[in-house]
Amino acid sequence: MSAYQSEFDVQLPIGITPPDGGVQRHAVLRKMRGHEEALLYDADLVAGRLVTELLKNCLVRLGDQSPVTAEAVRGLYSADRNYLLLELRRITLGDRMPAAYTCPRCNRAVQVQENLSDLEVRWLEPDQSLQDIQLDLEDGYTDRQGTRHTAMTLTLPTGVDEEFVTPMVVKDPLKAQDALTLRCIKQFGTLSRQALEAYGVKILRDLTLGDRLRLQACFNGSTPGVNFMRQVVCAGCGAVFDGVLDISSFFVIG
Ligand SMILES: [Zn+2]
Repeated sequence: MSAYQSEFDVQLPIGITPPDGGVQRHAVLRKMRGHEEALLYDADLVAGRLVTELLKNCLVRLGDQSPVTAEAVRGLYSADRNYLLLELRRITLGDRMPAAYTCPRCNRAVQVQENLSDLEVRWLEPDQSLQDIQLDLEDGYTDRQGTRHTAMTLTLPTGVDEEFVTPMVVKDPLKAQDALTLRCIKQFGTLSRQALEAYGVKILRDLTLGDRLRLQACFNGSTPGVNFMRQVVCAGCGAVFDGVLDISSFFVIG
């Protein structure tokens, strides 16, 4: 006879760094219930605060905080939020999940039975907190005075950033992606904060495609969190391609 388990311990890939130092990685989750399932059907929530509400309800403990506030969940890095969603899905509905990808060569839908325990997760070293990411663009951005800026200091997005861009995603996914990237730029060459904010996403649109790819690779590359990239084989044409596992289908039942 196995003991009933109602709470599940997890370790966040990045964690929380309180003002007085140290890193808190430990969190405790409980399974989703009908109350949380109802959240998935709330159109207002889906357009913004759904992930925060879902995680807030199912987190029994976050670092040294219990009960857990929406504010604390919103302040987590997206990498930690996505990891918590993955673990919440696993404890609630199990590891097996049907997923659908589109073959980029023949456009067929490819159905795959994913095993969520196969997903690779990267954690920061114990006691290490998240460092800024330094990136050197090849072409850079030339401002109105003719100064070319190439050195970027980046950080990773949080729930606050996610909620800021989520309402844009349906209407203009590229704008949403650029707006999210812009929020993660802490420093770009010698541009002032005001200049960055005034030019906004226009700066990102002015970058060459090569630089834009370099920038995206920074976020998708070796940063902590779950690697949602899957290698998929198309049964129709035999192509092997990279597909991104869709987190928004995690809690679709059936
Ligand atoms: Zn194909």
